[in-house]
Amino acid sequence: MNSLAQANSTPALSPSASPLQATYSGPKIIIDSAVIRRQAKRFNRALPRVQAHYAVKANPHPEVLRTLHNCGVKFEIASKSELEMLLALGVDPKGVFYSNPFKGPSHLAYAVENGVQWYVVDCIEEMDKVLAAKPDASLYLRLYTSNKGSLWPLSSKFGAAVDEVQPILENAAARGADLAGVTFHVGSQCTNTENWQTGIRAAKDCFAAMSALGLKPRLLNLGGGYPMAPSEIIENPTKQQLAPSIETIAEVINQELADLPDDIEIIAEPGRYMVAEAGRLICQVIGTTTRGQDRWAYVDAGFYHGLMELGDAFDTAVTSNHADNDPQALWTFGGPTCDSVDVFGKGANGKGTPLSANLRSGDFITLHNTGAYVYACGTQFNGFEALEVVVI
Ligand SMILES: *Cc1c(COP(=O)(O)O)cnc(C)c1O
Repeated sequence: MNSLAQANSTPALSPSASPLQATYSGPKIIIDSAVIRRQAKRFNRALPRVQAHYAVKANPHPEVLRTLHNCGVKFEIASKSELEMLLALGVDPKGVFYSNPFKGPSHLAYAVENGVQWYVVDCIEEMDKVLAAKPDASLYLRLYTSNKGSLWPLSSKFGAAVDEVQPILENAAARGADLAGVTFHVGSQCTNTENWQTGIRAAKDCFAAMSALGLKPRLLNLGGGYPMAPSEIIENPTKQQLAPSIETIAEVINQELADLPDDIEIIAEPGRYMVAEAGRLICQVIGTTTRGQDRWAYVDAGFYHGLMELGDAFDTAVTSNHADNDPQALWTFGGPTCDSVDVFGKGANGKGTPLSANLRSGDFITLHNTGAYVYACGTQFNGFEALEVVVI
């Protein structure tokens, strides 16, 4: 299938890409809100006891937030401006979770002023800070958990280790703080279902320790990390990131949740899962060459447009305007800036991405599954404008 034709609703785009060339105004991401709605529904169906709180950082575009809000999804934030965007949409701040383990004082003050109730902590110092700003805050403790099998590990930076938990709980109990929840984060694009099992079991142990100290546990926050699935439009399995489906992960989670008392509220913070598959990035080839054995295509979007994750192992599906049955070559892509980190598509084996051997300047490529952590991470480095975003 020709995905560029699909992206532009033009029938059978010719290999010369001339129809698109005539209207092309720079690299853009097209976000399909129907896919976001599908993902939200699927998450909800797989995990009926779990309320989704979308991690705004994955894609903070206002139309993306509105789509999720309209699906009944709630939110998780890390900063003042993320909260501002939610308030502008009419989101109830009571249901917003502030899950950044270290909150800048002005960001924290803004959240307190605007009615956010729930704040994460992973150490006594942060608990001091949050309670000074809001003595009646509801707190949840972030536990260290294994990030084994996650493409983007997050546990080295945050989380109370096993031997740090008890002193934090004792401190909270002694000062009468409402430390009422537990959270963990398995890492992003997590493909190891065991990590959720380990995290939930650690949370249950923590609940028992809390109750023993007179604290009143009532929140389990399963964090994020739910992986995007391979694109359904791309049929070449060698290009796909193998990942368990949400239903497979849910089987493990639901089993662990079965013996949790009903008065424990259960939430999760999916980011990538909700939006990644909804996005495709269209950019133009601005030149090609051969260096040694390697074919290179230089394109007008790259690392500094937010394609940071595509560096090496993090593969994604790529198509071009050429016919699928063209002879293939393995391509490495260079972004438009002069920085050598601005390269992608080498693939897990370092050899490149298979695409038509006829790729040349003026052609177009489409990077699929780019709805998460691309638009959000874009810069204007080296004088190249940030990506245009179109939500359909
Ligand atoms: C980034 C983040 C998420 C979302 O992670 P995904 O891998 O996109 O699901 C959720 N919670 C917290 C605290 C995060 O930092």
